[in-house]
Amino acid sequence: MTDELDRSRALASTTDCALCGKPLVYAADSVARVCDLCGTEQTTMIFCPEGHFVCDACHGAAAMNVVRRVLATTTSCDPVAILEQVMAHPALPMHGPEHHAIVPGVLIAAARNAGAAVPDGALETVLARAAKVPGGWCGYYGACGAAVGVGIAVSVLTDATPLRGEQRSLALAATSQALARMVDDQPRCCKRASRMAVEAAVEYLREHLAIDLTAGEREPCAYTTRNAQCARERCPFFGGSEQRR
Ligand SMILES: [Zn+2]
Ligand SMILES: [Zn+2]
Repeated sequence: MTDELDRSRALASTTDCALCGKPLVYAADSVARVCDLCGTEQTTMIFCPEGHFVCDACHGAAAMNVVRRVLATTTSCDPVAILEQVMAHPALPMHGPEHHAIVPGVLIAAARNAGAAVPDGALETVLARAAKVPGGWCGYYGACGAAVGVGIAVSVLTDATPLRGEQRSLALAATSQALARMVDDQPRCCKRASRMAVEAAVEYLREHLAIDLTAGEREPCAYTTRNAQCARERCPFFGGSEQRR
């Protein structure tokens, strides 16, 4: 806990390089880098042009503390509202693999609050599984981590394993439906992807698992000015005006 708080304090930017604020490089090949915060050597395709590197675990350390707290205490049955609440926290980076965990976490919290049968420890299970889906997964591997997050939520809710055919197929179909909505010819936006994933999940859970979650109205996106690659009018969540942050 102390370690995580100390690491969180080192983050100078939640939009670009966490250490110096320069826009990150998304390279075509991987390089070896040592995390400036925890000292772990890793290969990565995402790094700062100044030589800085912050690993995924350190990148999300502060944010995930916030996410855990919100998801544990929220009483809302509306995953759209919970998602916006979590994403609006100042500790949360504009983009990053934290969103892969937030999506299933939000879905499990809303399902729990709606009185659905949620297995014991489901929240921690989805957060732990999603933590293994690295940043940049969409463009580098062809599956957005937020969509995979929907599959993780359905897997945990149905107790799926690779050997349980029906449950496994439910999880695969959930990921597939969320992923299909993200094919838009635009650069990644983790806010857009998370919103798409949660909207797809609300429909999927209702149709296939009889879990009926309230889904609030879309609100105009407030992240345009923080997102250098914002798709603006080509994004269904674009707010249409200059943003509050
Ligand atoms: Zn830097
Ligand atoms: Zn690290």
